[in-house]
Amino acid sequence: MVLNDAEFGEVIVRKNPLSKSVRFSVSPSGRLQMSVPKHTSDFLVKRFLNSNRSLIRQQIPLHDPKTQRARDAKKKLLMKKAKEYLPYRLEYYAKLYNYHYDRCRLSHAATRWGSCSSSGTISLNIGLMQVPEILRDYVILHELAHLNHMDHSAAFWAEVASHDPRYKEHRAKLKHFSPGL
Ligand SMILES: [Zn+2]
Repeated sequence: MVLNDAEFGEVIVRKNPLSKSVRFSVSPSGRLQMSVPKHTSDFLVKRFLNSNRSLIRQQIPLHDPKTQRARDAKKKLLMKKAKEYLPYRLEYYAKLYNYHYDRCRLSHAATRWGSCSSSGTISLNIGLMQVPEILRDYVILHELAHLNHMDHSAAFWAEVASHDPRYKEHRAKLKHFSPGL
């Protein structure tokens, strides 16, 4: 669960069956992270957070909350843009090239631009809204091709090439961007 706090920005709350008390730490992304016993209510989580503010300020080396808040705002905006664009772009290419996927999911994983599950769910990273359209389209065509080939075999790349003949160039260019925010 993620809590939006006015002071600390996004706070990651992990309900842990093994923990008996509340612990504060820093997540890999520099956010505040709380580990709480499994059945702690949201109300209690907020109360713990509020009663430990000064301790957190002094002892937890968070990224500058202002930077964190700016990043959270950027993520929210990207998500909004992505929602209005990516599912429709995916649908457009699926119709054009006769692919059938199950659903489109928007992600914000730090390392992957997209993925395709064997059940036909295509995930697209909201960070795609920050790369040139031609590279965005390459990712979409790449994931659609995975519906027919769940690997990166020669047959898979031949299918990608049939819809994006310059895919090698697009793939190389995409490496200059990072999906993380
Ligand atoms: Zn792939």
